[in-house]
Amino acid sequence: MLSFFGRETFSKATAPLGRALVSTGLTPDAVTVIGTVASIAAAVTLFPSGHLFWGTMVIWLFVMFDMLDGAMARARGGGTKYGAVLDATCDRVADGAIFAGLAWWAVYHENSRPLFFATLVVLITSQVISYAKARAEASGLSADGGLIERPDRLIIVLVGAGLTGIGGYWGIEWLTWAVHVAMWVLAVLSIITVFQRVLAVRNSPGARDVIPPAPPQNPADATELPS
Ligand code: MG
Repeated sequence: MLSFFGRETFSKATAPLGRALVSTGLTPDAVTVIGTVASIAAAVTLFPSGHLFWGTMVIWLFVMFDMLDGAMARARGGGTKYGAVLDATCDRVADGAIFAGLAWWAVYHENSRPLFFATLVVLITSQVISYAKARAEASGLSADGGLIERPDRLIIVLVGAGLTGIGGYWGIEWLTWAVHVAMWVLAVLSIITVFQRVLAVRNSPGARDVIPPAPPQNPADATELPS
């Protein structure tokens, strides 16, 4: 949803930060790894132990830090293909850790099966949504767009978890439901997004081209042996 209006503004806003980080001698790949490792560490320690507010704050900080790798690559005159794959892979691991940490909290802290269920749906669909796009692009097709992309997903889960954390600290009972609402909204919108992506692939040019059968791998299988 956000990509319609956010990307241009975001890259303009982060350009000076990207240049500043490059001047420290850090590489974009290092920023990717540092941001991811720190996000994972926060997600699997602070969320399961019930520190939703501080978990949200730390994860937000490092997710934003990790998003600077692109600005750094642009400041250096362009990124590498390896950097792009590393970045996408790290994003999947970080998303997995965030929802795994929340799932753990849902079970062992809240004893809430509905929240656990919604979180598992989001954990799986978040991976499928990005895989569908990557696999489509590997076949020369496109599966762009859809309701929930990574920035949308992170904003919804972190706003929900943060508000629940605040509700917990201040004893505001109704506010502690925020993460439940957020995860159900995210689960439903993510399932819709999976369908949107598959439909986008189906409609993309060349999607119905027949792939010729691959030749046999072993040449001995291809030739009839003389009798
Ligand atoms: Mg990144």
